[in-house]
Amino acid sequence: VSGLTVRDLVVRYGPTTAVDRVDLDVTAGEVLALLGPSGSGKSSLLRAVAGLERLAGGSVAWDGRDVGDVPVHRRGFGLLFQDAQLFPHRSVAGNVGYGLAGQPRQRREARVTELLALVGLEGFGPRAVSTLSGGQAQRVALARSLAPEPRLLLLDEPLSALDRSLRERLTGELHDVLRATGTTALYVTHDHDEAFTVADRVAVLGGGHLVQVDTPARLWRAP
Ligand code: ADP
Ligand code: ADP
Repeated sequence: VSGLTVRDLVVRYGPTTAVDRVDLDVTAGEVLALLGPSGSGKSSLLRAVAGLERLAGGSVAWDGRDVGDVPVHRRGFGLLFQDAQLFPHRSVAGNVGYGLAGQPRQRREARVTELLALVGLEGFGPRAVSTLSGGQAQRVALARSLAPEPRLLLLDEPLSALDRSLRERLTGELHDVLRATGTTALYVTHDHDEAFTVADRVAVLGGGHLVQVDTPARLWRAP
């Protein structure tokens, strides 16, 4: 079994069941979008996979190995949230290179330069984070999350803080970057266009239940 396997997953907050016995697979190299309205359990599911929520039931495994007891930072998963959450006192390069501590300086710099080019920010390395626009900040956050080559990238509404036209442009860019890097990803969004553009397959959530999982083309044709 290669990639992510979620089985019978349950997440509860007190009396609220946010995720109700969900089964989900993300195979290596695949981008899977989790699509559903607000409150359908998308974030809870993603956070449970990340190790940020306690499981009330079920299991999360990578390559067939249960990761339930593996702490967040040991799972080899990258995280990208709506708010870029950059380190404000570090340069752009300092942010992108953050996860590469311990690597030789030259290799680190080469990797930072490569990632900045990939997200369309050549030459931005020395800039202060405070000088960036919202879209630039989110590109830096994407580069930072890709730097350590996570085996799975977890994205939670990464573009929803941006205005519509920027969001549409970055959706296409994100698709290209994820493909170019061969990144395996779970991508949470409430936006149909975003899900259909970015993902190889779309999993539709409703009321904590998995309603449907299929390719964008087949979901598009469904009545
Ligand atoms: P989505 O990401 O699809 O908007 P969430 O996973 O955030 O959905 O929420 C699913 C359900 O769990 C909702 O009913 C929400 O109100 C509830 N919920 C989410 N987080 C918490 C929390 N920290 N405490 C209590 N209830 C929560
Ligand atoms: P901080 O902002 O945290 O002090 P630095 O800006 O010194 O960090 O850089 C952090 C990492 O990024 C270091 O590994 C450094 O070698 C590398 N780096 C710094 N500037 C650049 C740049 N312009 N291009 C590529 N890599 C850089």
